[in-house]
Amino acid sequence: MKILDIRIREREDSRGAPTIVVFVTTKGGAGEASIPSGKSTGMREAKTLAPKDAVNAGAQIAAALAGHDFSNNRALDKTLIALDGTPLKKNLGGNVMLGVSLAFARVRAAAEGKALWEILRAEYFPDLAATPIPRIFANLVNGGVHAKSNLSLQEYLVVAKPYLSVSDVIAGLKKLYAILGKMLAEKFPSASVGIGDEGGYVADFRDDREPLEILTKLLRVSHSDDSWFLGLDAAASTFFKNGSYRLGNETLTAAELATRYASYAKTVPLLKTIEDPFAEDSLDDFAAFQKAHPELRLIGDDLTVSNAAAITAATARGAIKGVIVKPNQAGTVTETCDAITAATAHGLDVIVSHRSGETPDPFLVHFAKAGNVYGVKIGAPIAHRLPRYEELVRIYDTC
Ligand code: PEP
Ligand code: MG
Repeated sequence: MKILDIRIREREDSRGAPTIVVFVTTKGGAGEASIPSGKSTGMREAKTLAPKDAVNAGAQIAAALAGHDFSNNRALDKTLIALDGTPLKKNLGGNVMLGVSLAFARVRAAAEGKALWEILRAEYFPDLAATPIPRIFANLVNGGVHAKSNLSLQEYLVVAKPYLSVSDVIAGLKKLYAILGKMLAEKFPSASVGIGDEGGYVADFRDDREPLEILTKLLRVSHSDDSWFLGLDAAASTFFKNGSYRLGNETLTAAELATRYASYAKTVPLLKTIEDPFAEDSLDDFAAFQKAHPELRLIGDDLTVSNAAAITAATARGAIKGVIVKPNQAGTVTETCDAITAATAHGLDVIVSHRSGETPDPFLVHFAKAGNVYGVKIGAPIAHRLPRYEELVRIYDTC
């Protein structure tokens, strides 16, 4: 498909921060993609260019690629990666490159009369057949850098079991969210309960353990299925300062933080997964904790930055049992799908994730379906988080 033009426009994300929409025009039609942005970003993830620089990078890519014909995404992405020439996509920006790559995949999908996920499946996961419904990781309490509160840990997630239809799961999650709102309004002065970046509640909790206790109670009172469980995303790099972890008012070593997580898991048996429990350079601490606590599943995010080689290295150390995949950490469609393939081959639970600053573009759900992944992490079922819930219904439910 011959590229004719690439244009970039600035738009706001759900935090009101500037991000970009990328438009690709080819001889066979046009496509677009809006790119989200993270706040707790890994230092090894693809770099994001500010909109002004992104517009220039888009013009540079347009000048280099106009008139060039690409028959698939891998060929386009290879050219983009070579044109950028840096490991972290500093020149062209992971946001710009992903936008071009995704918009191009959408052009191909439209030209073939297919959904985006079908195009991705055909190119990157041709051996897959079934399309099981993924687990939804719903962030119901926000802390860390996603909220103004005393919580150091970033996300308290309810992990829903897939039922026969996505609509049923979402109805269950919406019910839980409403009950939790009532519980918090009874416990705290209602004017003090707010909403964080990913739609979860923000309140003046006693400490980082309390939301886990409240969510346990929530799952019990709501009679949700036994296989619904709880997860944490500590995003520990955000509270790692000068070699120690600042958890609330405490300053902890990695070993003391590990003891704290173990104590959470002991008193909150529904807690099954912990994402980024330690800082992004602490592979040894991940490995030691995962070995000592096989009952918990550690998940890499900033540790592995959706990079196939980093995922393989972490798995070789026995450091994780699951991995977050964020397309804009990788920076192209090909690298995102290669990360899913590598993680799946290593037997990891793959969870495709949104970013804390989102747009209405629900593309991540298509990566999830293309790769038959274990889960999707998409925030609480309200407001600017809904487009990805709605897309799940659209592409998984048959009626
Ligand atoms: C995360 O850390 O998993 C996350 C979604 O946050 P952000 O987008 O801010 O990196
Ligand atoms: Mg994370």
